[in-house]
Amino acid sequence: MCGIVGYLGRRDCADVLMDGLEKLEYRGYDSAGIAVFEGNSIRTVKTRGKLKCMAQKLAEDGKPEGFCGIGHTRWATHGEPSDINSHPHSNGRVTIVHNGIIENYAELKEFLTEKGYSFVSQTDSEIVACLLDYYYTGHDRMSWGASPEGRTDAPQSKLAPDPLRAIMETVKELHGSYALGILFKDFPDRVYATRKGSPIIVGLGQEEYFIASDIPAFLKYTKDYALLDDDEIVCMEKSGVGFYDVHGIAVKKQIHTADWDIEQAQKCGFPHYMLKEIHEQPEVVTKTLDSIVTDGVPDFSGIGLTDELLRGVKRVFVVACGTAMYAGIVGKYAVEKLARVPVTTEIASEFRYMDPIVGEDDLVILVSQSGETADTIASLELAKSRGARTLAVVNVKYSAIARGSDMFIHTLAGPEIAVASTKAYSVQIAVLYALAFRFAYARGIMPESEMKRLTAQLYGTSKAIRDVIDNKDECQFIASQLMNAEKLFFIGRGFDYALSLEGSLKLKEITYIHSEAYAAGELKHGTISLIERGVPVITVATQRHVLAKTVSNMEEVKARGATIIAVCRKGTEFAEGTVDIKLELDIGDELDDMLIPLPTVCALQLIAYYTSVQRGIDPDKPRNLAKSVTTE
Ligand code: GLU
Repeated sequence: MCGIVGYLGRRDCADVLMDGLEKLEYRGYDSAGIAVFEGNSIRTVKTRGKLKCMAQKLAEDGKPEGFCGIGHTRWATHGEPSDINSHPHSNGRVTIVHNGIIENYAELKEFLTEKGYSFVSQTDSEIVACLLDYYYTGHDRMSWGASPEGRTDAPQSKLAPDPLRAIMETVKELHGSYALGILFKDFPDRVYATRKGSPIIVGLGQEEYFIASDIPAFLKYTKDYALLDDDEIVCMEKSGVGFYDVHGIAVKKQIHTADWDIEQAQKCGFPHYMLKEIHEQPEVVTKTLDSIVTDGVPDFSGIGLTDELLRGVKRVFVVACGTAMYAGIVGKYAVEKLARVPVTTEIASEFRYMDPIVGEDDLVILVSQSGETADTIASLELAKSRGARTLAVVNVKYSAIARGSDMFIHTLAGPEIAVASTKAYSVQIAVLYALAFRFAYARGIMPESEMKRLTAQLYGTSKAIRDVIDNKDECQFIASQLMNAEKLFFIGRGFDYALSLEGSLKLKEITYIHSEAYAAGELKHGTISLIERGVPVITVATQRHVLAKTVSNMEEVKARGATIIAVCRKGTEFAEGTVDIKLELDIGDELDDMLIPLPTVCALQLIAYYTSVQRGIDPDKPRNLAKSVTTE
């Protein structure tokens, strides 16, 4: 959750840290802070609020002057957002920033309190600074449960202070997820970091080094980076960077080069990242398809997803969270329709704990933008332990899910900065369609000619998305009609229903208007009681084979006073008086109904975006939300 940065080099450290934190703003946060070595002492400045509050505080208090330090944006999990609870936390000798949750913090706090430590914040993170200090000052590993009373402290052996050993011992005691940036007061010009579950990327510049939760934080300075794996420790100092495993043994890391540049991580003239990312969809859909299509048909044999393997699959699970889960529902409809294989979509936080019936004949598809989603990672591990084949559909190449799965399809959306996902969703569904085509072909249900035709159609969605973007004024008008709504509904059938789920999520995420998505035929089984005069009902009505049925459902809510906004193909006719506003998608007649979600979702994203802006909300950073959810 949120962001960590660290720097060692020749530049003004406070500036580099603030710049990096700004690039990580998309991850969502409520407080920020930095700690910088000023000679041999560490100066910390931190505050509740957005980065501009932090910039103001630095202007008032004077910024720390130095070349080595760590910074943090916090998304509070333990203790309210306040100045005191903001990171960095320090006990004098050790200063840390932490992303994640220490699940056993209460137990550790009790132990450390007995040892004479005191705490000023309510965070789980502060105990990490104290535990590091405990080991750093020469204590041996605490032995839990060694005596009948519970635990006893091992005799103190007074080892010489050693930061690496202190970190190794500390992480053995921590349960939960963490990315940690660490400064030891006795070692100016050194930054340590370690991780488990939350990402840390190490940027490798010319005699300057960085740690960050994501690459954009240092992309301006270097494109070269190494990925810290779970339980590894990195030490950056003037002479270079050292990586160590959990036993303190030096490890060699592969150096990667970021394949996108700083422009891709900037707004490029758009008022918000979200609008920029919506506009990028035609291009990234084509790019992603290019990477999985050979000779006009999807081909996944290069990653080991052969026709033979697909033929052997008895069931498919799509496991994901949030928008990626809704992409999974589109995938379910496509795979079941075309390949006639049962597909179950599961919310990752449920899947991991529900003892799912999953085994060797199953294919588990993990969908995630960041590839670091904690619940999806846990679901991946569970699926592997049950012998299922695992396939990642992930946007970040070297992420935990991409690397941990048996097979990996890289969605090429490029960096997605806005918290609300748009282009990542589109490329996810493009991949799932392509997979459905190949699946059907591999199982002998679809001839190659049809697979070719559908693949060409899938490419055609790129133009259709562009056509929707070209008519964005209409979405802006609809937004003006929605901006004062207190609640609204999305309804649709089949693919339109799958899409309604995503359209509704997008809208509520960034406009704070309560919105519900319903299968159009389901609304009358209870929730129609919420329909009253003027409640907007956005009806997604693109699926021609169920259009008459959807229209009946529109009539039902219209009769109860709803304001109907119909999203449909150009030329769709409705009976007089049924529809209040029609958003006709001018996408041509040729596009197969099954593939319409790609252009249609773009219209729903634009409606959500403009409604958010018209309500005075920053759509890139909706309240309470974080981009990459690395906690449970
Ligand atoms: N659990 C920590 C806190 O509440 C860190 C949260 C974060 O990831 O920002 O302070």
